[in-house]
Amino acid sequence: MLNNTHIRKAATYLADKSQCIVIIMHTNPDGDAVGSSLGLYGYLLDEGWRNVHVIAPEAYASFLHWMPRHESVIIADQHKDLSHSLIRDAALIFCLDFNGFSRSGDLEKTLLESGAAKIMVDHHPQPEDGFDLVFSETAASSTAELIYEFIAALGDEDRLSLQVAQCLYAGIITDTGSFSYGCNNPRTYQIVARLIEKGVDGAYIHRLIYSTYTLDRMRLLGYCLSEKLKVLEDAQAAYISLSQEELQHFNHQEGDTEGVVNYAMAIKNIHLAALFTEKDDHVKASFRSAGDVDVNKLARAHYAGGGHKNAAGGKSFQSLRDTEQAFIALINNKEKRTKEL
Ligand code: 5GP
Ligand code: MN
Repeated sequence: MLNNTHIRKAATYLADKSQCIVIIMHTNPDGDAVGSSLGLYGYLLDEGWRNVHVIAPEAYASFLHWMPRHESVIIADQHKDLSHSLIRDAALIFCLDFNGFSRSGDLEKTLLESGAAKIMVDHHPQPEDGFDLVFSETAASSTAELIYEFIAALGDEDRLSLQVAQCLYAGIITDTGSFSYGCNNPRTYQIVARLIEKGVDGAYIHRLIYSTYTLDRMRLLGYCLSEKLKVLEDAQAAYISLSQEELQHFNHQEGDTEGVVNYAMAIKNIHLAALFTEKDDHVKASFRSAGDVDVNKLARAHYAGGGHKNAAGGKSFQSLRDTEQAFIALINNKEKRTKEL
């Protein structure tokens, strides 16, 4: 990836500092989507680009709102006209932390039709065609790490600000579960070391992200673990499903179920975990796995989704109950399980 030809092409695309540049992240934005987008946004503003906009297809968790320039993010489902017209009129669009246009949700059609040059920066497997420039590196811990590499390749590492470093650091820790998976390579730690040298306070950022639960959110987690966690022993799998009624009981806010699925993975001998949450018109599925169990394959085959080998997601358009039953039947079927995971 990031070879000299790429960088020259990117520099050409970026040459005009007054052109309209849009940065788009994926639906249901996570820490890496927001961190990489605000990191790139901050860098471009610091370096003199004057007409840059960040668009999130929908709102994201409040534990990400501390990030520098969060208040500038345009939430597309709250500002439809503005988002669509910016995408239509942009000269250059960065697509961050996703590798297929459908991951931009309701923005997909406008994004496809836009005449802008499109640059993908991402670390998910199986990138799709249709982008003008692709920085795709599945070995990277996060898209935030790739934004660091991008800035460094443009020759601007020395000037990377503390605000940008904070966003990139947040992207890296959220996509690696605070350095517990997806980062077993020296490069991630070299980049993190540089971010710390820029002044990032790791303990402080960790607290902002992981220790700012509302009481409702903490009680919801307790309820999930004590009342809702089910284990399929033969399959070494565990799952939790949550109805809208249950979520409302705990005054559910965007992001409150983030991380819940990881607790199921922390049980001894569990190699696959799922969380099903009921939404207005679908059930959101979240999968995690260990080792060779490939949940990207599972999400692509059965849940119109995708992701990484050990962390993926998708949707079901059946009821919550039927989704749960279908999952149990699939996972308990040894032959299918062996073939499809
Ligand atoms: P989460 O379970 O935290 O929502 O997502 C885990 C991983 O799966 C993330 O890398 C995310 O980008 C990916 N993912 C989640 N939902 C979808 C989806 O509907 N489609 C695709 N392609 N990836 C998804
Ligand atoms: Mn990511």
